Amino acid sequence: MPEAAPRCPYCANILKLQPSFWARLGLKQDHTNCPNCQRECEARDARSMGASYFHWAEQFRYRLTEALKTLPILAEPDLHRALGNPSKDDLRLITSVDELVRHCLHHQRTALMEMSLCREATLEVVHLRNDITKASETVAILGTSCSESGAREWQQIAARTGMSHFVLYTYPAAKGAEPRVKRAVHAQANPPRRTTPTTASRPSIGTVLSTRPAAAAPAHAQHR
Ligand SMILES: [Zn+2]
Repeated sequence: MPEAAPRCPYCANILKLQPSFWARLGLKQDHTNCPNCQRECEARDARSMGASYFHWAEQFRYRLTEALKTLPILAEPDLHRALGNPSKDDLRLITSVDELVRHCLHHQRTALMEMSLCREATLEVVHLRNDITKASETVAILGTSCSESGAREWQQIAARTGMSHFVLYTYPAAKGAEPRVKRAVHAQANPPRRTTPTTASRPSIGTVLSTRPAAAAPAHAQHR
């Protein structure tokens, strides 16, 4: 398992920490300047940011890899429709799961950074299904920043075009996210409660049965 690199707590840039003589003696906390955002941070904060970022990135990698496993191979014109008729400029051909994960991690950096800082940002992975057959066709990735930074959205959709070949559609950042993706994320977070006829018709102990006469029920509900 790779180790978590220290990261800047302000911009999540990977930092090289070289402990000073005094820090090694435990007499002084090391400070370092981030070459990306030029801000100064303590080595201990960079290590904790690095560990936290690593945790969220690995969790994302696992969820995305699992979601990709069940994707069917799509050919044109299903591919184009399932992706949401993207323009060619926003598509990227990918030849491995690792490469796909890397591109997503890069694009979803802000969400990951805010999650690492314990802000209320989210990074979701969800299957998008065919409207008619209800079969999974693509995987959507949706990163959302916290409300303090404007609840911005970063949407990507991955489709499989071969055993280890994928197309990644990076939705134009200015447009936020598609309603169908937000619906799928919401449905995944709030799954419909499953009530089978057997359990629904069997009252559990302590259940107060309805005293409403059966005749009062609407006609269409009587034959359930
Ligand atoms: Zn920085």
